Amino acid sequence: MTGASLPPLDATDLDDGVKLLDTTLRDGEQAPGVSLTSEEKAHIARKLDAAGIDVIEAGSACTGDGERATIERVTALDLSARVTSFCRGLQRDVDLALDCGVDGIDLVVPASDRHVTGKVDTTREANVARTVELVEYATDHGLWVEVIGEDGSRADLDYLERLMAAALDAGADRVCYADTVGHATPERTRECASTLADLGPTSTHTHDDLGLAMANALVSVAAGADMVHGTVNGIGERAGNVALEEVAIALDHGYDVATMDLERVYDLAQLVANRTGIPLAPNKAVVGENAFTHESGIHTDGTLKDDAMYEPYPPEKVGRTRRLALGKHAGRAGIEAALDERGVSVTDEELAEVVARVKAIGDRGKRVTDADLLTIAESVRGTDYDRRVELLDLTAISGVNPPTASVRLAVDGEERENASTGSGPVDAAMNAVVEALSHEIEASLDSYHVDAITGGTDAVVTVDVEMSRDDETVAVTASDSDITSASVTAMIDAMDRLVASGEEPVPADD
Ligand SMILES: [Zn+2]
Repeated sequence: MTGASLPPLDATDLDDGVKLLDTTLRDGEQAPGVSLTSEEKAHIARKLDAAGIDVIEAGSACTGDGERATIERVTALDLSARVTSFCRGLQRDVDLALDCGVDGIDLVVPASDRHVTGKVDTTREANVARTVELVEYATDHGLWVEVIGEDGSRADLDYLERLMAAALDAGADRVCYADTVGHATPERTRECASTLADLGPTSTHTHDDLGLAMANALVSVAAGADMVHGTVNGIGERAGNVALEEVAIALDHGYDVATMDLERVYDLAQLVANRTGIPLAPNKAVVGENAFTHESGIHTDGTLKDDAMYEPYPPEKVGRTRRLALGKHAGRAGIEAALDERGVSVTDEELAEVVARVKAIGDRGKRVTDADLLTIAESVRGTDYDRRVELLDLTAISGVNPPTASVRLAVDGEERENASTGSGPVDAAMNAVVEALSHEIEASLDSYHVDAITGGTDAVVTVDVEMSRDDETVAVTASDSDITSASVTAMIDAMDRLVASGEEPVPADD
């Protein structure tokens, strides 16, 4: 079959859907600087399973004792997903995977001459024979086997076809086209994937070195592949793998093909970003902070008239909510809506003044938070806002175990003191504030973000916090050269706003 004669993806028979293999715990963990503990891997595996991922590659059993203990821990979770280990073309690797109790293996054998002769120092023929032997060995031991032809995109296609056909004949459950170094164009991918799909069940493993991981994954599916390998957030070696959440939404939105529980992708993305320390770019598709945020006046106005005006699909579909942000692009409609949401009504003249001041802050390159907007509105309307919660004093001690902090607050004019502990001084101080105000408000901290504005150890840091109670969310920013102080100030400002907008205070009983 030639590439040009393939049907477009939307005309392809996908009644059985497309399966996903998640390799966040193996290929994803190979991203520079990432190392997950066994507890973190088990936690992520549980979430992947709950989201309906078909196969979870839990690690490489050959890596060492720690990795094997982790894979065993994942297999012991008794998930619905099939749990596999990555194995090189060595019987020792297969034995180690068997020791971990996995359901199957992803057996990686060299496919390109660069790997066959240059890396493994064998011949094409010997490599085929070795692959057949290992597939038979693994299937004899009851393992599900997927054979991955490493560097397949740079292999001689006739040889790749011969190697993969031999693997299937030997009893492999499926084969996988691997663009190991992210080298292939969609045309080359289509040629390889369709050749393999003619042989039997085929997966596709694409990398993003050319920014083509997603296009190549979709082309593979159009060519007959029925399983896509990927990682949460697209983390992985070099430029990373294709992002599973992007594959899932593209197949759903563009082709009406179900893969996983989309509502869980945002939680998964945040979990993986937190545990790996690889933050999400704000403009990242599906799960980036700005993916459903509208700031420009024209876009905000349009969105207020029709949610779908500037969005391809609703945020709720991927477990998120829409945000209207205020900044230099803000317009009257967006600001009026933001004030309205917080129960503040203004006259036309007042609104014009609020808009002018919001834009002035935006022009200075700053984000306008909810607290900023309310302060501006109060000053324009001449209504003085009475703070109900104020910080009087803060002491935080690190270097003791556990780190401890105490705060002194004025709540409705009455002094209150509280001390608490935490994982560090900031955590301890934040806990002290939350406990001190537990009578007034039960608020949750939804996001916490720190930026250093200047370099050096005396840098001024800006802390952004987002807190919510019930349906209400407040975002506040505070800057200080002391990170604990900035964090506590932002948190108290946010809680003060949430208290002020809530019911009357409940008197403290102690
Ligand atoms: Zn890879």
